[in-house]
Amino acid sequence: MPMENYPGKPRNISEFGKLLYKSQDEIRSIQNRKLREQVGLLEKYSPYYKKLFKKLGISAADIKTVDDLEEFPLLYKRDYMKNPMDFRLDIPPDAPVQPHERILWGVHYTTGTTSGVPTPFFSTTHDYYGNLMQLTRMDEVAGINSHDIVANLFPLTPVPHIGFWKTIDYSIACGARCVSAVTGARYEPFPIHRSLDYAVEMVEKNRCTVLSGIVSFVRRVIMRAEELGKDFSCVRLCFVLGEACPKGMRDDMRRRLRNIGASRPFICSGLGFTEMQGTTLECTEEGGMHLCAPDLYFLEIVDEQTGKRLPDGEKGLLTITHLDRRGTSFLRYVVGDITTLTHETCPNCGRNDARVVMQPVRTMELVNIKGTLINPDILKTEISSIKGIEEYQIVFTKEDLKDPLSMDKLQIRVAIERGLDKRNIERRLIEKARKAVEMTPEIVFVGKSEIFDPTKTLKSTRVVDNRPALD
Ligand SMILES: [Zn+2]
Repeated sequence: MPMENYPGKPRNISEFGKLLYKSQDEIRSIQNRKLREQVGLLEKYSPYYKKLFKKLGISAADIKTVDDLEEFPLLYKRDYMKNPMDFRLDIPPDAPVQPHERILWGVHYTTGTTSGVPTPFFSTTHDYYGNLMQLTRMDEVAGINSHDIVANLFPLTPVPHIGFWKTIDYSIACGARCVSAVTGARYEPFPIHRSLDYAVEMVEKNRCTVLSGIVSFVRRVIMRAEELGKDFSCVRLCFVLGEACPKGMRDDMRRRLRNIGASRPFICSGLGFTEMQGTTLECTEEGGMHLCAPDLYFLEIVDEQTGKRLPDGEKGLLTITHLDRRGTSFLRYVVGDITTLTHETCPNCGRNDARVVMQPVRTMELVNIKGTLINPDILKTEISSIKGIEEYQIVFTKEDLKDPLSMDKLQIRVAIERGLDKRNIERRLIEKARKAVEMTPEIVFVGKSEIFDPTKTLKSTRVVDNRPALD
């Protein structure tokens, strides 16, 4: 197919963006070359990999292509958390490198820690410049450009996460204007955080075209704007991250945005994580999420048991290998999501970078209830397809919480729009739960801030397991 025939292909592609239109073979040969260079650096400067290469009897010269990565064991977050400094390149001052490769530019912290201690991820100037190239391409995939006014709706958090900062960076990358709401949990000594209503006003006053934030928070901004009768007619794109965004959620956001004047909003979902300093994202709704930087990262889907790479379309653990980093650097790092990949040319935009094609499931979210392993994401998709639900929470609990051996119980807490028939919603929720997980839930009606209070937490906690641990 001639490239011009792809409906989602942008008219002007930047020099950086052209790489994604090269052939699969060309992209792969760039990845192979970059991997060889990166492994050479790891062998010289990475405390962790120096030791690992010795232990495995491998030298950097043995690694020639990305297929040789299978020589290496998977790296899990728990191993990285044990000693994050071991994964940071230790380049001595007299090393034959440019200053950019040694200077510490910034530190972000990974989310999802269980111990409560955040884990640092270091970037040098070299890494930050490479990241701006990656974000330039990301802007092109989403169709964000210098005419846009981006509303940064990510919270300012005690631990620097990528959401807030990368939104500013991707605006820098394409020359868009960016305004930040600075919401988040209040800090007494310096009460600089602003309210949900400020965020709503900010979008209207600045005539923002892009709403960028965590899915459930962006939705809450839209709901509040609806309540206040605001004018959001300039909004054309919601770039939402941090949670899966099933079809029901997209339809709900679109319907509400139309009520406040937006005509054809594109709800763009992505899978972002600290270890790639950005996000994969969609060029069209549910069209798969583009990697954008195949010259910086190599993604694999691997079998959870054997660590072997799985072919396109098969479900497994997502891993990332860094191909061009000087700060923290990994080979085959397990991100923590189960999903599928494709390397096929994107039928919408014609790009050839890899795409994540299944809405990812966090591995930690597979839940055993009444002896059956269920996927709460399927239940979430079903619940979010019911109109009139403002917030919901899936709770795994016990018939009697004081008795750990009593029966497991599935409960759905739900906040609904004023004036709706509770019994009707209850009946539909039960129907949907039976379809999704073959279980009958108990339905509990609550106020929406009992489930998600944007002044206290980052996002709605959709799944809660209250069952006492059995040991
Ligand atoms: Zn595409």
